[in-house]
Amino acid sequence: MTIAEKITAMQRSLRLLETKYQKSANSVRLLLASKGQSVAAMQAAYDAGMRHFGENYVQEALTKMQQLPKDIQWHFIGEIQSNKTQKIAEHFAWVESLADYKIAERLHRQRPDGLPPLNILLEVNIDAEASKSGIAANQVEALLQQCLQLSHLKIRGLMSIPARHKDFTQQRATFKRLNILWQELLRKGYALDTLSIGMSDDFEAAIAEGGTEVRIGTAIFGPRLVTSKSHS
Ligand SMILES: *Cc1c(COP(=O)(O)O)cnc(C)c1O
Repeated sequence: MTIAEKITAMQRSLRLLETKYQKSANSVRLLLASKGQSVAAMQAAYDAGMRHFGENYVQEALTKMQQLPKDIQWHFIGEIQSNKTQKIAEHFAWVESLADYKIAERLHRQRPDGLPPLNILLEVNIDAEASKSGIAANQVEALLQQCLQLSHLKIRGLMSIPARHKDFTQQRATFKRLNILWQELLRKGYALDTLSIGMSDDFEAAIAEGGTEVRIGTAIFGPRLVTSKSHS
């Protein structure tokens, strides 16, 4: 299958799952995780209608931005080093991996005045894994309240990368814990609209539990061409 065909198939699956789990039509966004993928492959995805791309490494992303259309919405989904916040604030529309107030404050200060506020998702370490970034579930609301004071940021919701499970029931149980946290924040009146929780192996469980964005990479593009660490 071509990239365009894989995108069409994925969009069809998302629409079917929206129906299956009684979500409104087109409420789940496909974000293409494009680290380590070629500009040509990304251009093919763009030509197939994709406008949201997620990148993990700043330098790699900046190089791609120069070669791809200007109406792409770039999401930073990688670990944020404080010496990279300036470039992130200047060149991205979204940051999905915010987990630290000091970083938030830098992004706020460095966001250029002429740009709209930087859209932010707080990354939740839902399985409390030592190896993963993100904040603990019980610290999300405090960070959210702090970040809401930063006018150059627009807090849109939560992102999480749960521990991998093959089994649907286990996947769903993890996402349910995120959904409970999510619903609680909505009930308290926070104006959030984005829950980015599904990936290629678990997006059905994510949608079942309220996910509004799935992040898919190799399932659309195939294997990564480069080990992106070398591009960071
Ligand atoms: C790479 C990445 C993905 C997509 O992973 P694939 O295995 O390429 O589908 C999703 N989310 C984040 C945060 C990533 O870094």
